[in-house]
Amino acid sequence: MRLGVQAALVEGELLQGDVEVLDGLVAAVGLPGGRAGTALPGLVDLQVNGFGGIDLLEADAEGVLELAQRLLETGVTAFQPTLITSPPKQTCRALRAIGEAASHGDGALILGVQLEGPFLSPARVGAHPVEELKPPDLGLLHQLLDAGPVSAVTLAPELPGALELIDELVGRGVCVSLGHTDATAAEAAAAFDRGARTVTHLFNAMRPFAHRDPGIAGAALAREDVVIQLIVDGAHLAPETVLAAWHAGRGRFAIVSDSIAAAGLGDGSYRIGNVEVQVEAGVSRGPEGQLAGSVGTLAAGVRRLCELGVPLEEAVDAASRIPARVLGRGDLGRLAPGARADIVVVDDALEVQTVLRNGEPAG
Ligand code: ZN
Repeated sequence: MRLGVQAALVEGELLQGDVEVLDGLVAAVGLPGGRAGTALPGLVDLQVNGFGGIDLLEADAEGVLELAQRLLETGVTAFQPTLITSPPKQTCRALRAIGEAASHGDGALILGVQLEGPFLSPARVGAHPVEELKPPDLGLLHQLLDAGPVSAVTLAPELPGALELIDELVGRGVCVSLGHTDATAAEAAAAFDRGARTVTHLFNAMRPFAHRDPGIAGAALAREDVVIQLIVDGAHLAPETVLAAWHAGRGRFAIVSDSIAAAGLGDGSYRIGNVEVQVEAGVSRGPEGQLAGSVGTLAAGVRRLCELGVPLEEAVDAASRIPARVLGRGDLGRLAPGARADIVVVDDALEVQTVLRNGEPAG
C-alpha cells in the first residue's frame, strides 16, 4: 500500500516522496507519485492519565482499550498509561485492568504503566492527594510491581530510603523518573548516579531553578545522560522556559501530554482518580487552583514546538524517538525501511489526517 504522501520524516530527515507499507512494515521511502501530506513516525506519549472521558485509575480493561483506540486516532501509536497517587488497592486494581487490556493489543500500543507516586514529596505534591503519599517502602513497592506491568516509577529521590527503591527498580529494569520532588542538585545527582535516567514534567512540581541552588531542574539540564520530559501545552510552562530547556537538552528533550479524562472533550468538571478537577478555557485545575494534568494532545505539543521555532524534525523527535528511548524501545518512534509501520500522516498545518499502526489504518 502506498500512503500517497509528498514527503516523510525518515530517521530524523525530511525526505521527498511517497512511502510504501507492506506486511505491517515500512517497505520503501522516497518513491515518486505522492500527492499531499507528510508521513511522520507514530507519536509516543509517556504520560497519559486519561483521555476522551476515560480516567485510567477508574477504567476497566474495556475502558482502557477504548482509550487506546481514541488516542491512536490523535496520532499516538504507543503510550504509557500513568496512574497518579491513590490508595494502593485502587492502584493495584487499575494495574490489573491495564495489564489485561495490554494483552489484547488493540489501539495504541500500551508500553507499560507509569506509577506517578506514592513516594513523592509532600512539598511538591501538585494535584496528587497529599494524604495518600507514602514514605519509600520496599514492601509496598513490591506489592505494586506484582499487580501489573509497571514500566516506570516517578519518585522523589530526597526522601529517606528512596535510593534503595531506585536500586530495586533499576535491578528489575523498571525506568526511574524523578518528579514531584524538592531535591537539590546534589540529591538529584546521587539518584542519577544510581540509575534514574529521566525527570517527570521538568520544572512543574519540583524545586525551582535558582542561580546558586539549581535544584533537580538544573541538575537534569546539566547532565547529558538524562532525558528531560516537559508538558508543552501552553499552560504548564512559559514559551521561554520550553525554548531554554530545548536548547540545553537537544537530543534528549521529550514532550508528554499529561492528558486527563477531559482531553478531547470541552470545559467542565472531571476527575483524575479521586481528585476533582475543573477545566476552564482549556486549562485543568485541582481543588486549590493548582494545575492538574492537561487537556491537550501530543500532536498539539508538536505544533506548539514548531510555532516556537523548533525545527519539525526535532519537534517530532521529541514526541517519538526520544520518549521511546526512555523505555528502551529503539524499535518505536522511527520511520525507515524495515521499521514497524506506525505512522502519522499530517497536512501542512501539522493536523493529523491518517494514522497507521502495524500498517493498519486506525478508526
Ligand atoms: Zn505530576
